[in-house]
Amino acid sequence: MDNKKLLVATHNKGKVTEFANMLADMKLAWLSLDDAQIVEDVAETGTSFWENALLKAQTYAAQTRLLTLADDSGLEVDALGGEPGVYTARYGGAGLDHVGRYRLLLQNLADVPWEKRTARFRCAIAIVGANGELLGRSEGVCEGLIALEPAGNGGFGYDPVFYLPDFGQTMAQVGTAVKQQISHRGRAMQAIEGRLRELLANNDIYHPRQ
Ligand code: IMP
Repeated sequence: MDNKKLLVATHNKGKVTEFANMLADMKLAWLSLDDAQIVEDVAETGTSFWENALLKAQTYAAQTRLLTLADDSGLEVDALGGEPGVYTARYGGAGLDHVGRYRLLLQNLADVPWEKRTARFRCAIAIVGANGELLGRSEGVCEGLIALEPAGNGGFGYDPVFYLPDFGQTMAQVGTAVKQQISHRGRAMQAIEGRLRELLANNDIYHPRQ
């Protein structure tokens, strides 16, 4: 079938491409929120990454009647009791850009010694069908430490301050291919790949009841 579509609930074309590359052999159209002409973002009111991923997938599936995949991710810093967590994108308020946010994080950890700077990126993925049914879920975690100072130009967000002990480099230094393998999102994607293939092979998924 050539008319299969999957909505990836993001405005970030890079994320859509990451999924499309993973399933490059599958014949289907990958749509972003922009492709589906959705301009209003869902308020991320959940108390966990999973709740937010589910909320986004359910809302956009209801609006588009398309098979929809949504992910939600962020950073948990142990010395901050797990913060910023679901507030990662908004850490420090709306006035800050990515650099401002990780600088604030470094400031807030200024007195925290190296061994207590443990942190993790976490990502949850939800897949919801055109009728609103939950069809798949996964989670990915990437453990590391918050660096003492930023390093590297790759990636985005907090990558320059997320140090990976196994590589002796930050997430912004390891390169895209390594990041895709070991990141929270990469792992969550790998964990859901089989389920996604199963769903995409099932033509019933594309003929929702009215
Ligand atoms: P989102 O749910 O994927 O939009 O991620 C929420 C926020 O978490 C982003 O705005 C980033 O600040 C941060 N974040 C998520 N994934 C990454 C990553 O791979 N590297 C760095 N920061 C990330």
